[in-house]
Amino acid sequence: MARTDDDTWDINESVGVTALGVAGGRAAETRSPNPLINDPFARLFLDAAGDGVWKIYLSDEPPAELAEVDPDFGKRTEAMKSYIGSRTKYFDEFFVDAAAAGVGQSVILAAGLDARAWRLAWPQGSVVYEIDQPKVLAFKLETLKSHGAEPIARVVDVGVDLRQDWPKALVEAGFDPSAPTSWSAEGLLPYLPPEAQDLLFDRIQSLSAPGSRIAVEAFTGDFFSDESVAQRKEQMEKYRQVAQKLGSDAGTDIGELLYDGKRTEVTDWLGAHGWKVTAIGADELMAGYGRTLPSDVDAPVPNSVFVEGRL
Ligand code: SAM
Repeated sequence: MARTDDDTWDINESVGVTALGVAGGRAAETRSPNPLINDPFARLFLDAAGDGVWKIYLSDEPPAELAEVDPDFGKRTEAMKSYIGSRTKYFDEFFVDAAAAGVGQSVILAAGLDARAWRLAWPQGSVVYEIDQPKVLAFKLETLKSHGAEPIARVVDVGVDLRQDWPKALVEAGFDPSAPTSWSAEGLLPYLPPEAQDLLFDRIQSLSAPGSRIAVEAFTGDFFSDESVAQRKEQMEKYRQVAQKLGSDAGTDIGELLYDGKRTEVTDWLGAHGWKVTAIGADELMAGYGRTLPSDVDAPVPNSVFVEGRL
């Protein structure tokens, strides 16, 4: 279903499904022989959500008939698992470093099923604000609570849409704009319209005291080019057919959830607003973690850049 300006969702519908998809990647990475990360909670979310296309990363061998739809399906799935593992590790390291440097307040924008507050070694007194759709956060908290999981940092849930006035909700929840903050935007930007992305960064800027840090999974203009959009649509149509073959609810077409259109480059924007910026491409990040990409598959993982800024 096409997006609208004020659409909302539960965990198993529309954009909520993408949070389950990422949890699937983290669950698969966690149980792999040489995992980059350890997220024991990811599997709990998948089990609580029941059967669906989000469990695809957990099948050891994709069903044979899937090769009819996409002969590279197995290679793509492996590459995406590695991508999600690498991305998770990158943001884990970012938050641990920031906390070790004394940044006591964190905001996870579009937290989804991110369980960092429950699994990273946060110093005492750390507070983690999680922003996402109310139903997504409710599903996460209920699942963790039902398994008796206790957070390591103090978690504050802020159930609000990131296209609405989230700074107001964040401050009302106790966020202190005068204290340094570590911010993350992981798996978020393509789900926002270009103008909402610009507004998001304006707002982050206005809430960031000196000493703040930010980590972003950014997508270059190339990701939103006509050619890339067409390629993604073609790929998504294949995955929709895959979901149908698996008997899953094919109502969620991930390609339909993304907003196209030219974007502000995050690296440039942060640099122009006083942040000291470092950036690394997805392929380089993954290589640094010992993960190689298949050379015979076109665009096996998103052409993204991991950007860190310090104010
Ligand atoms: N950051 C998490 C991770 O990496 O596991 C979740 C990523 S998931 C691909 C995208 C998340 O963005 C979902 O949890 C979705 O609910 C959230 N999201 C997307 N657009 C949003 C919006 N406008 N307001 C609040 N949350 C949003």
